Parts: sequence; C-alpha cells; structure tokens
Amino acid sequence: MTMTEYVFTPDLPVTLPVAGSPQRFPVGRVFCVGRNYPWPDTQGQSRQPPVFFMKPASNVVEATGEVIFPPLTEEFAHEIELVVAIGEGGANIPESQALAYVWGYAAGLDLTRRDVQRSAKSNGLPWEGAKVFDGAAPMTAIVPVTRAGHPDGELWLNVNGQERQRDSLDSQIWSVSEIISRLSQSVALRAGDLIMTGSPAGVDVLQPGDIINAGIDGIGQLEMRVGQRP
Ligand code: MN
Repeated sequence: MTMTEYVFTPDLPVTLPVAGSPQRFPVGRVFCVGRNYPWPDTQGQSRQPPVFFMKPASNVVEATGEVIFPPLTEEFAHEIELVVAIGEGGANIPESQALAYVWGYAAGLDLTRRDVQRSAKSNGLPWEGAKVFDGAAPMTAIVPVTRAGHPDGELWLNVNGQERQRDSLDSQIWSVSEIISRLSQSVALRAGDLIMTGSPAGVDVLQPGDIINAGIDGIGQLEMRVGQRP
C-alpha cells in the first residue's frame, strides 16, 4: 500500500459538535445569504433575488469563550443567523424537496467589518474583506433535524443584557427551502456545506469586553465575550 506523500501535513477538517451526541459535523463550505429579513431601510421594497457570498470553513469556530476582535476595523459588527447544515449533496434541488437535504441547524454569528464593507460597496468593489477573517463565524452545536425538526421560532441577540436583534424566522424573505433550491441551481451542494441565512434588523457594533448572548428557539444559545483589539 502506498501512502500519499504531502508536501506538508494537511489540516484536519474543521468540525462542529452535534447536540446530544459524541459525533462531530465536518464542515465543508460556508455559504451566506445577504439581506434576508426586512430592515428599516428596505421596508416596502420588492423582493430581490437572494445574494450569496462565502466564508472559508477555517473561519468557523465553536461559539464559546472569546470572540476574536479582528484587525483592520473600527466598526466590528454582530449578525445573528440561522445556520443550515447540509447532510446530502445535490444540484437543482426543487423547493418541495429541499428540506430533505438538511441534516441539522445551528445558531451562528456572521461577524462583519462593517466599515470595510461600506467602503467596498461605495467603491463598487467586492466586500469579501468585510466577511473573511479568523474567527468570523462562531457557531453553536448542530441540532439534528431527527431530534428537533425544522425551527420556526425566534432568533435574538443581546449585548451586555440589552436586546439588539429579535425577529421571527417567519420573517425571512427567502425561506430555507427557497435558499437551498436557488443556491443548488448555482453550485452543486455537498454534505458538510453550511448556509448562514441572513440576519434580522438591529445589527450594530461590538466593543472589547462586550458580552454577547444570542440564540434561536429550539436550536441553541451562545454566550461569548468580545476580546481585546489586536
Ligand atoms: Mn449576514
């Protein structure tokens, strides 16, 4: 038997815990949806097609302990989001079958360098730099659909005990089924892919030492402290 000789030892896959189980969920790619809840500045607008962007799997961390304060920002912002964990691959998935591809759900933070994003947008440049940095996607344990079904409650986020974000998952502009169907028309989904489904109104900035409490009914809660500036 010959062993593959790598130039250097490859990293093990990034994994997340599974609620109520010793198993781990191996993370593939992380797709994210842009605006997916009504925000005050978009009220009354017609429904636009969902916008997708990505974070690398290496940005995913367990949502415990400290939030890493990223470099190169003066406006580090929180976004609480429902995370969909894909358990089976597929392309051109019909909406009516999409939920069968979901293995489980988690609560996640789509952490954002808002100033970097605003500057990139106003200059017509890609805003990847706003979304991609070490620790940019803290997530709770994944709750299997077989255990908790598909969530339909609220998601919320508090900072230092003050509520900043709260909305119902019903308010999503694009449902989980629609997101999976649309995304799978663009790229074949694979088991292990995660989809961050957008954040309700109330996104705001974080300061070192802030305590974040956030969660999704029936899925999970997190508590993290924001670390010092680099
Ligand atoms: Mn987001």
